[in-house]
Amino acid sequence: MIKLDRIRAAEERLLLPTYERNPILFVRGEGVHLIDENGDRYLDLLSGIGVNALGYAHPAIEEAIARQSRALIHTSNLFYHEGQAELALRLTERTGLDRVFFANTGTEAWEGAMKIARAHAGLLRSEGIQIGTKFLALEQSFHGRTFGSVSTTYKAKYREPFGPVVPGVEFVRFNDVADLRAKFSNEVCAILVEAIQGEGGIRPLSQEFFAEARALASSTGALLVVDEIQAGMGRTGKWCAYQHYGISGAHADRSSSVGWIQPDITTLAKPIAGGIPLGAILCTEEAARAIHPGMHGTTFGGGPLACAVAIAVIDAIEKENLLQNATEVGDYFQAQLRALASRHDAIKDVRGKGLMIAAELDSADLAKLTVAEMLKRRQFLPYLTMMREENE
Ligand SMILES: *Cc1c(COP(=O)(O)O)cnc(C)c1O
Repeated sequence: MIKLDRIRAAEERLLLPTYERNPILFVRGEGVHLIDENGDRYLDLLSGIGVNALGYAHPAIEEAIARQSRALIHTSNLFYHEGQAELALRLTERTGLDRVFFANTGTEAWEGAMKIARAHAGLLRSEGIQIGTKFLALEQSFHGRTFGSVSTTYKAKYREPFGPVVPGVEFVRFNDVADLRAKFSNEVCAILVEAIQGEGGIRPLSQEFFAEARALASSTGALLVVDEIQAGMGRTGKWCAYQHYGISGAHADRSSSVGWIQPDITTLAKPIAGGIPLGAILCTEEAARAIHPGMHGTTFGGGPLACAVAIAVIDAIEKENLLQNATEVGDYFQAQLRALASRHDAIKDVRGKGLMIAAELDSADLAKLTVAEMLKRRQFLPYLTMMREENE
């Protein structure tokens, strides 16, 4: 505790006050457990906010970091290295998309996706198609902290202090098909969604809403952009959460051939390299037509180290059958939570897919109390999100 107090005092003087940290100093992780400075062991239900998909100290990650750091950590994107194409092949095969750009973080991937959507609309206009520059995003959305990302993120306190943010964004009520239809027009260049909202409270899009978003976008040439930064890479039991959404009937896009509602662009980040920062934008050949050399780039994105680790993560997910494991353990966990909910009125809802699960509590106060109690017992590390923190 002495060490924690010293660190806390130093941070209070030296860091920007952006975080309200919990008073725990972690020193080590093993599998699904985190261990603090006193040796207390927590079952980690937070996973570094959906990042540590293989758990702590996984040998495949240790091995990839050691091997790649001895060979090459960084070269810049001015040269080739072995990792990007190999990783891009794994990602395109598993997502049904065609091309990849590697970034460093979620928000950076999302910024790039927004840029591709604007550039693609510009390309269509140059070809004589009438299409505007507006984005439709969803209420309760979260897409990151940089300017484009906050402009499409719903919570006012993330956005408004930094105004003016990127113009041309309108928010649609979550899963409200009539509101989506009313706000969509050929002024819209992209519809932006999370298949399952993460920070917004682990809320899946309805089949009807998602199918309508796909159909509306296809009707004008607008792009359907799905943020899988939190839900993707196997957490829900499939590589991407959008793959849970089946199709009925013919689609005027790729969906008919893949069998699920297929986005034009998706973004991945959090767990993709098992804790090493890496983000990815995946898109169709059609969306990629808008991008030419020099239009977009990054110094660090897709470096040899991050790519080597991401390849090792994907291979481990497959070798250890972790998609199936997420489904089975998630179903068990949800069943246990439902049993608890049937005995406690304060648990209003239990929902999610695979290991992306929420138990919604009656009130914000109760949720905060529950989390505080879990931390005090030093057994569980929970994830708390306030889905009803309304915009003033
Ligand atoms: C975390 C998150 C982001 C932002 O990712 P960063 O790596 O923190 O920039 C974007 N979208 C979703 C859905 C997220 O959960």
